[in-house]
Amino acid sequence: MDTDLYTNWLEIDLEALRNNIRQFLSITARPVMAVVKANAYGHGMIESARAALEAGATWLGVARMEEALALRQAGFLARILVLGYTVPGRAAEAARENITLTVTAPEIGQAYSAACAGMGRRVSVHAKIDSGMGRLGVLAEDGAEFVLGLLEEPGLDLEGVYTHFARADEPGRPTTDDQMARFTGVIDALQAAGRRPRLVHAANSAASLYRPDSYFDLVRPGIAIYGLNPSPDAPVPAGFVAVLSWKTRLTSVKLLPAGHGVSYGHRYTTPAVQRIGALAVGYADGLRRKLDANSCLVGGRRLPVLGTVCMDQVMVPLDELPGARVGDEVVLIGRQGEAQISADDLAAAWGTINYEVTCGLAARVPRFYRN
Ligand SMILES: *Cc1c(COP(=O)(O)O)cnc(C)c1O
Repeated sequence: MDTDLYTNWLEIDLEALRNNIRQFLSITARPVMAVVKANAYGHGMIESARAALEAGATWLGVARMEEALALRQAGFLARILVLGYTVPGRAAEAARENITLTVTAPEIGQAYSAACAGMGRRVSVHAKIDSGMGRLGVLAEDGAEFVLGLLEEPGLDLEGVYTHFARADEPGRPTTDDQMARFTGVIDALQAAGRRPRLVHAANSAASLYRPDSYFDLVRPGIAIYGLNPSPDAPVPAGFVAVLSWKTRLTSVKLLPAGHGVSYGHRYTTPAVQRIGALAVGYADGLRRKLDANSCLVGGRRLPVLGTVCMDQVMVPLDELPGARVGDEVVLIGRQGEAQISADDLAAAWGTINYEVTCGLAARVPRFYRN
């Protein structure tokens, strides 16, 4: 296999990603914007975008202009929305490349407009309403006026209005209801003025799964298209499949005498003669340098990582695996036989969220695409 020559790699199951996009199309019955920012949450932006579009997604969502440009350079013709702030100096380039920008404040919209109108162009934009996230966008109370103002700008083609939820991954809390009420207030006012933009959208993964009232004209799932749970309280339904596996190999197997220190700082000492293995994974690959928090699957068993995580290596106890040999495949995220470690398991062990786990997988780890 192509992975035979490697000691640390990711396997990305593109058919799982296509399956997850089809799930969203069927659950929401709306156009799907596949959010592929941050190298597709670590999964590989170009390959993930291609699979998402093959499965029927019609938009790609990115955080930054340079991600949008990388997609255009790779030949993608699909609609692209930059979800984050873009400097006005990029507006004309966005117009040229048919990249849609988010307008986060009136004066920023004016600056985009001036840059494009001066060249006889219009840039496609979506207006961002802050309905309760406290991040980008105009507060809902000023939202309708903001959008009506942008509609008058000669260099803008205002196509959409959207908002983003702060707590949709905690179903049952009232915050999302409050955000929905503020956002629909803006949309209703625009409708009453006869100026409702063509594309209204709000739903991230959690809302796409748990808030049908937030679907509007388009949904914007990210984490769940990779088969991962938006949160433990908002899991993906059966039918979603995890896209990513992370693997390494045993690179050393040997007996250490009793009382022998293991790894930097000797934070672990062998209690007796012990068979110790080394693995080719460390914090430079995205494994957190947290003591007694990591584990892996070897020979279908879950083993703890012993002692300090090094930059490129960790050690494991192999006493229960007398057959273990240098070169054996080891799973860090994924399945091996009946055993499994999920990105959620790592997130729980590290005190973070699965998003940070996969986004933290380093660029040096090669990605192998399947199916
Ligand atoms: C990242 C992002 C999304 C996707 O969020 P998930 O929780 O990964 O589904 C949607 N919309 C905006 C504005 C985002 O920044």
